[in-house]
Amino acid sequence: MTIATIDPTTGTTLKTFEPFTAEQVEEKIHAADAAFRELQRTTFAERAEWMRKAAEILESEADDVARLITTEMGKTFSTAKYEALKSATGMRFYADNAERYLTPETPVEPSAVNASALSVRFDPIGVVLAVMPWNYPLWQAVRFAAPALMAGNTGLLKHASNVPQCALYLGDLFERGGFPRGAFQTLLVEGKDVAPLLDDRRIRAATLTGSVAAGASLAAAAGKNVKKTVLELGGTDVFVVLPSADVDKAAQAAVGARVQNSGQSCIAAKRYYVHEDVYDAFAEKFVAGMAAAKAGNPLSDDSAFGPLATERGRQDVQELVEDAVSKGATVLVGGEVPEGEGWFYPATVLSDVNPDMRIYREECFGPVACLYRVGSIDDAIERSNDSDFGLSSSVWTTDEEEIARLGREIEAGGVFVNGVTASFPAVPFGGVKDSGYGRELSAFGIREFVNVKTVWQA
Ligand code: NAP
Repeated sequence: MTIATIDPTTGTTLKTFEPFTAEQVEEKIHAADAAFRELQRTTFAERAEWMRKAAEILESEADDVARLITTEMGKTFSTAKYEALKSATGMRFYADNAERYLTPETPVEPSAVNASALSVRFDPIGVVLAVMPWNYPLWQAVRFAAPALMAGNTGLLKHASNVPQCALYLGDLFERGGFPRGAFQTLLVEGKDVAPLLDDRRIRAATLTGSVAAGASLAAAAGKNVKKTVLELGGTDVFVVLPSADVDKAAQAAVGARVQNSGQSCIAAKRYYVHEDVYDAFAEKFVAGMAAAKAGNPLSDDSAFGPLATERGRQDVQELVEDAVSKGATVLVGGEVPEGEGWFYPATVLSDVNPDMRIYREECFGPVACLYRVGSIDDAIERSNDSDFGLSSSVWTTDEEEIARLGREIEAGGVFVNGVTASFPAVPFGGVKDSGYGRELSAFGIREFVNVKTVWQA
């Protein structure tokens, strides 16, 4: 994929970028390494001041940044602005909490290990490479950058090739806030050129948010070099509705859960398992809600969602739907690529989906829901867990025993009860199985890239 801004609303290429040369990449790694030495000697208070200043800059530029996001990947202007402001909130959160999360601990009385003094420190490890996707071009990158910089690490951002201007914006933001030059920089390189970067001794670890294939490739390169990785990969999250649920509320939330970000969210609900007692009532309301959720110009307040981000992405979605329909799935709404410019795809609901269809197992990164009827909570849990992925889940019931069981037995990094999966700076985020490993956000996130160091004194 070439590095370019292509407006998904029109399909027009607005700007192309040359990938960095080997010399430019070397310059950036050198600067990141040098900045790490500098950052190591700074205090939490200094870094927090720079982080807050960067958050302030981002907030003051939120309208412009939101327009840029909308132009590069097609989400609605209002959701893009929300993303910019949420990113600033995430930055402030780590400015406020990093020191508390990384304060040295004394696990036992020093005398218990024959010491006069004992501490466990959480020290930064150096340059971390962050490979990020286009779907939340600011938030995904900030979710890494804020804890990393507050811990005293430096970051190199390899952003998705279709959001280069967002990437370049982020590459300046932290320096504008006051961080030393080189503390957080963007590398304009293509995905295929990432793995060799892990051979560089100065890059100490890597994190990737994206597809399973990309994650596996990065982790292999890191493994070869004995470097740690955190992987935030895909998902086919479930939305389970049981008889005691508020069906109206669930059906309304179910629409938002599927069309958010034009369906291009790793934590968007994709598989809907609805108990037979409430199936018809839920299906009627859900399908009506999906039919009413219209894709349109992302700059207009009337559009429920915008186009898909790339032409290839729309093709992938349509191929999954066509495969399912050719094998007997029923289209309850949507399912047709609309006429006209831009990479729009309608809100779609399929029923009669079976394991022979690709969409039964594969992640569909567009606004397409698969609706299944289940006979019991056991059935719902078994089918939820019959997936290669395990990112998050949304379950709807008011029965306390069911809530406890779902919380315990759903194989995912999150279970959201009577609500839609969301991410919060204070709460860990990540998956199991093919959805990846490691956690972002909260204390868990900031501790992923630190040296847990024992200091023992006789
Ligand atoms: P992708 O193709 O994997 O791209 C993500 C990033 O990885 C981009 O920067 C891409 O660069 C890079 N990349 C691609 N191939 C690579 C390789 N072989 N080695 C190293 N880097 C490589 O993912 P996508 O299709 O754009 O994004 C959607 C996927 O991301 C979905 O599966 C979604 O569920 C997942 N996602 C997960 C989370 C989460 O938190 N778990 C959040 C958001 C998205 P180029 O653009 O240059 O190819």
